[in-house]
Amino acid sequence: MVIDESGEWWTGTEAADLAAYLRAYQAGGYKVDDVVDAVCGSCSRYEGFRVRFDPDEGFAERTCASCGGETVLLDGADIVDDVHPQALRCPCGGRTFDVAVGIARRKDDVRWVSVGVRCRKDGTLGCPVDWQIDYSPSAHLLDAV
Ligand SMILES: [Zn+2]
Ligand SMILES: [Zn+2]
Repeated sequence: MVIDESGEWWTGTEAADLAAYLRAYQAGGYKVDDVVDAVCGSCSRYEGFRVRFDPDEGFAERTCASCGGETVLLDGADIVDDVHPQALRCPCGGRTFDVAVGIARRKDDVRWVSVGVRCRKDGTLGCPVDWQIDYSPSAHLLDAV
């Protein structure tokens, strides 16, 4: 694992760097207990995802770059009719990302979620959106990445 922290943006050399990034980023100020990698449930190929997100509402969805399968992350299906998602684009112009979600826990529940991305073109790491989870039970969100 190599994370370059020298520039304006952190960059990582492989998808696994996302986990280290999310743990260091600590969205919401909470320690990240789990990092769950997004995997397409529809195909076995892996070429990353296109991502659409709404930072105001706390929403993200991913579209598999190889099969086009769309997945709304976490609890986004509850608010999908109210959001105005925008396509995520890396400063380099890249639009395909590795995706992982950082989970901060409160005992058995989820306290905070952060969506981490790594540009497949130049390795730039980012966290375009994160939000609080304020209901229980919420452990099922770990299976909704
Ligand atoms: Zn797929
Ligand atoms: Zn990029």
